[in-house]
Amino acid sequence: MLNRLRNLFERVVIGESVPRLVRWGKAVPRAAIRDLQADAFRVAFRYAATRQKFLARKLQEHGIDPAGVRKPEDLGDIFTTPDDLLRFPVEDFLCRRPQSVFETTGTSGAPKRVYFTYDELEFAGKYEAAALWENGVRPGDRVVCTFDPGYWLSSWVTFLACKRMEVFCSAVGKPTPRDFYPSLALYRYNVIVADPTWLVSLTEIAEKEGTVPVKVIMAAGDRMSNVYRGYVQDVWQAPVILGYGSTEAGGGVGMECRRRDGYHIDEFNFLFEIVNPDDEGYGELVMTTLSRRTQPLIRYRMRDVARFIDEPCPCGAPLRRISSIKGRRDEMVVMGAGNMYPEIFERVLCGVKGVSENWQVAVRQEGLHDILEFRLELSNGCSTGAIEEAVRHSLETRYPDVWANQACGMYKLAFRFLAPGGLEQGRKPKRLVDERRS
Ligand SMILES: [Zn+2]
Repeated sequence: MLNRLRNLFERVVIGESVPRLVRWGKAVPRAAIRDLQADAFRVAFRYAATRQKFLARKLQEHGIDPAGVRKPEDLGDIFTTPDDLLRFPVEDFLCRRPQSVFETTGTSGAPKRVYFTYDELEFAGKYEAAALWENGVRPGDRVVCTFDPGYWLSSWVTFLACKRMEVFCSAVGKPTPRDFYPSLALYRYNVIVADPTWLVSLTEIAEKEGTVPVKVIMAAGDRMSNVYRGYVQDVWQAPVILGYGSTEAGGGVGMECRRRDGYHIDEFNFLFEIVNPDDEGYGELVMTTLSRRTQPLIRYRMRDVARFIDEPCPCGAPLRRISSIKGRRDEMVVMGAGNMYPEIFERVLCGVKGVSENWQVAVRQEGLHDILEFRLELSNGCSTGAIEEAVRHSLETRYPDVWANQACGMYKLAFRFLAPGGLEQGRKPKRLVDERRS
């Protein structure tokens, strides 16, 4: 019922207008958002339970009567996993005829496929437009988007978002920063949307050869450490706003506001849970799509670890926030030092001079000991002894507990230094790897 009202309101009152969507999104009280979400969950669940073979089979296996399911927890340990998307034919997930397909490659293995209709892509674009609008993008701006193309979805959604706002947009694939650099001035782009690594490379060029006036920079696709964010912001004199999304989500699910303290999540179109939280509330993000009908995902395990930030944001937006992503769940390593996430090493290495942004930490086994090995590419001729000392000092001051476990012999630290380019990493670099025999 609530959702029928919302849909009617969205169609009749908001229509095509992005500013009206933003005003509405900020005016709905938090309690009403929860009610809308709960209602939308029931609608999306009932829809999928009768049309999606995968879900129907799961319900049967677990002896759950769909009529009794009111909220996600009623589904017990029924989830949809990335492995399910790989293992079962797509027909098991499709609920109606699709018009488009995108792929997502994880850190390993075959791509997962997600299907959409044009309407769903336009819809995702509308909500991304709202997030960009809230961060200051307006008609008259010129957006360049350099997300990886191919079977990836994000550049299309950004393009559709700009189309919706009637903002000039070039979604140009992913040229090398060097090839792209002259186009900045040529086309007078003042909004850059890109992945963090590409952005840092472009910024290095601009720092030497000159910047252009930029209003705001949006980065997504991977985590970005505060050091790199700070560097990019300093060079361009513009805020860097981070977004969080995935192909499975159909684009963005969350974006920072100007406060840059956690992602405001799109609670109108997704319901998030955090499962198996630790003492601090960090656990795996689980997402249910509330608005998609071609390939809805009920309780999809995103493999990313984060926590909810429940305090209201000073920006006034009622949408709940999640923390920055601590790491991928499959990157968490349990060892003598404690539960290790890539984020720990991003922080430890932040500010250590003489190493490139291409690094990896491995957990190895030597005899009965866990070894925590830093694999670092040398970037500007600092002595390896000085770098090692700086890393040890940083670990000790930032993570005294992790350090203490080392001091009392629970594990040992090791260092391996490589020439620039010596560390082979794919599109999504694995920052933390577990190489112990299982
Ligand atoms: Zn905010």
